[in-house]
Amino acid sequence: MNIKNYHRIVVKVGTSTLTHSNGLLNIFRMEKLCRVLSALHNEGHEICLVTSGAVGAGMGKLGYLEKPKTLPEKQACAAVGQLALSHLYQKFFSEYSKTVAQILLTREDIGVRKRFLTIRDTFSTLLEKGIIPIVNENDAVVTSEIKVGDNDTLSALTASLIEADLLILLTDIDGLYTANPNTHPEAKFVAVIEKITSKIKHMAGSPGSKLGTGGMITKITAAEIATNYGIDTIIANGKEPDILHSILQGCAKCTMFKAKIISLSTKKHWITYGSKRVGKLIIDEGAVHAILKHKSLLPIGILSVFGEFKKNDTVSICSPTGDEIAIGVSNYTSKEIEHIKGKQSSQILDTLGYFDYAVVVHINNIYVLNSL
Ligand code: GLU
Repeated sequence: MNIKNYHRIVVKVGTSTLTHSNGLLNIFRMEKLCRVLSALHNEGHEICLVTSGAVGAGMGKLGYLEKPKTLPEKQACAAVGQLALSHLYQKFFSEYSKTVAQILLTREDIGVRKRFLTIRDTFSTLLEKGIIPIVNENDAVVTSEIKVGDNDTLSALTASLIEADLLILLTDIDGLYTANPNTHPEAKFVAVIEKITSKIKHMAGSPGSKLGTGGMITKITAAEIATNYGIDTIIANGKEPDILHSILQGCAKCTMFKAKIISLSTKKHWITYGSKRVGKLIIDEGAVHAILKHKSLLPIGILSVFGEFKKNDTVSICSPTGDEIAIGVSNYTSKEIEHIKGKQSSQILDTLGYFDYAVVVHINNIYVLNSL
């Protein structure tokens, strides 16, 4: 398999991998998973872990033998189980001197642009600081309207949110087969999928195939979201977490869904696509060059502000001669920028009385239109 040098990796691990059949956490496997992820982190990869298992672990603790039927009971399980999960992750990762952070999301956090941008900044900051974010759905509070519903989809949305290079879905099967291998011995293993077609979806969820109920359909959906976003996606068996090393060396038995080829600017484009520019920032020559060299816009580079806008509004970024060179999402309101323009980031606190961001527009939120 052709394996690239992936830097930012999202690993999703499912309940069946993390818990025993009685619902109690498989501590041995969790420990191994944390060890392998720490080793990959030491090798220089950025790691984000999307974990299931909260409801399962809560069931074990509360003595449920079957998944409870009512929402409050499920949410009670999630609330108890999430804490148990986090506790163990923190314990195991700290044995390898890794700092972890917990992020519990709902669909709204990803779907509402303002929240999306805020969370993106949080992830960027954590990853820049070498922290391993651990993500789950906020099961204890979600209602069906704001639920992502399954962690395969959540992991694909997270991978897109943080612009990961690779998404790995660890589950209880090696990957995709042409039919259920348990009932169809002639089933063939599919190692590489160039394009997700309806035939592929059918393979995963056709009636009579246990794979669908085993969650293969949601994995294909996840692969579709991630590959559309330019992220290679792999399904592999998480029984032995060491498989993560083999995957990155290109020698694991797994299914790889190849990413669609899209340019970085396309990825960024959606941030600004369709959004009306509600203001304009005129910046100096130094700031123009900084942006063209992939640097964020600092207050010191801003000469003047036009229009009235709020935080997270889209603004036009223009050269001293008024040519629009980029579009960006502002971290500060127009009024705030009036006060901090031309100043050092270190003066923001004294000027405004608070300090939320060192940069006015982060490069992740800048879409360059024109290279001048
Ligand atoms: N968020 C759920 C949990 O932690 C898992 C959802 C899923 O299995 O996809 O229990």
